Amino acid sequence: MKIAIRTPFDGFVNDIADVVRLFYGEGAAVTLEENHDAQLVHSHEHENGEWIERFELIAGRAHTVTLRGAAVTCGGLEEKRQLKRLIKRCCYRLFKEYTGRRPAWGSLTGIRPTRLYYQQMERGKTREEARAALSELFDLSDEKLDLLDEIIDAQDGLIQRPVNACDLYIGIPFCTTRCAYCSFSSGEIGNGRLVEPYLEALFHEIDLCSEMARDMGLDIRVGYIGGGTPSSLSTTQLDRLLSHMHQRFGDLSELTVEAGRPDTLDAQKLSMLRMHPVTRISINPQTMNDQTLSIIGRAHTAQQTIDCYHMARSLGFDDINMDVIAALPGEDLAMFTHTLDVIRDLNPDSLTVHTLAIKRSSKLHEQKYRQQEEDVARMVALGRETAHAMGMRAYYLYRQKYMAENLENVGYARKRSICRYNIDNMEETTSVLALGAGGISKCVMRQEEKILRAPNIANIEQYIARVDEMVRRKRDAFEEKAARIAGVQRGV
Ligand code: SF4
Repeated sequence: MKIAIRTPFDGFVNDIADVVRLFYGEGAAVTLEENHDAQLVHSHEHENGEWIERFELIAGRAHTVTLRGAAVTCGGLEEKRQLKRLIKRCCYRLFKEYTGRRPAWGSLTGIRPTRLYYQQMERGKTREEARAALSELFDLSDEKLDLLDEIIDAQDGLIQRPVNACDLYIGIPFCTTRCAYCSFSSGEIGNGRLVEPYLEALFHEIDLCSEMARDMGLDIRVGYIGGGTPSSLSTTQLDRLLSHMHQRFGDLSELTVEAGRPDTLDAQKLSMLRMHPVTRISINPQTMNDQTLSIIGRAHTAQQTIDCYHMARSLGFDDINMDVIAALPGEDLAMFTHTLDVIRDLNPDSLTVHTLAIKRSSKLHEQKYRQQEEDVARMVALGRETAHAMGMRAYYLYRQKYMAENLENVGYARKRSICRYNIDNMEETTSVLALGAGGISKCVMRQEEKILRAPNIANIEQYIARVDEMVRRKRDAFEEKAARIAGVQRGV
């Protein structure tokens, strides 16, 4: 159904459209000038200290919902935020009544629901009050509130970091083949002609940024090598990278290497990783169905994933993560259940359950692949049950646009295998020094609730040519953070 939106607030059209998409999918919200099947008419009144929102859907028969809320008149962003929430909730209720469906995240379309929970607690609310407030503000389902509760419990004591704490991220933007759902800027490694020049630029960035970190007193204890697929480098190249990192940044208490694709791993490479202080690796099946692996363009079989996992265990890796994706093309509940059954037998230390998102820059989007909605919520729930059965609990979560059924990605782990970097990155409570093409450094200023970002260019050749500029961007951002903190301390 194509629905044209009419509202007195131009600035909220996109927010209303987000709610329309929750019920009718991508492309459902259109302008009055475009062809449409129905009109959604919003009106707003401010009366006796109350905001009164009214939505009417005119689609053959008309359906109307009115919602009142205490008017917030503090002006600025807070007033806008509160009004937006009320408008979205009213719109959500209209479609909930009209369709009989109830999307589990209610009217919440944001990326990090845990932030909202923390904000409620920062205002002095107890856990129960915070939970009740989220239920009231967004019509969240009990199932999603339970999930948030589980995550807040798991993050207890891990969120507050010293002001100079900073994580290290190193990006290797190469993969053996491109997955059909991939939206990253990583390139296929091809004949590898860009790898050595890339590593040379990266080592240069490591040298300059380690000096900068020392000058600025950054305390770097947590590292993550991601991508792309870092293990698509040769054993020698990856060995050089890890040695160089260690030489410049010293010992880290946590270091993850994404060894995501089994076709990039062998005993020699895994043994080399064991020689370095790598604390956690990720071997990602995505699915244990060969037919699906072929459809999504991954050049390995399920058996290769299993063999790789056993090899890593036999070499002594005691912290292995696995990623799966619910709602991959052609997969039904039985196929996803099979994937989870195999994983349960393998018994990894952590499991990340993703929901397929069709991003605009992916091959699936180009191929106009239509997301399957059937059974997705059941698949995600099964992923959760499997993680629980393996003794894991949810410890971070994020949502993306274009996800099937507007669901979520959740990281589950046993307590000792919680990846600090994942929490820091998702909750944005700790600064990140991100090196390599496409890395985004973040300077977190908690007191000011502000994050300064310094992105590295994603194009590999441009990154190589402009690496000094990437370092300058980071230095500028971290210097600005230091100056602002000094200003706050002086009361400026
Ligand atoms: S392994 Fe990851 S980064 Fe590489 S193509 Fe697949 S989704 Fe993209």
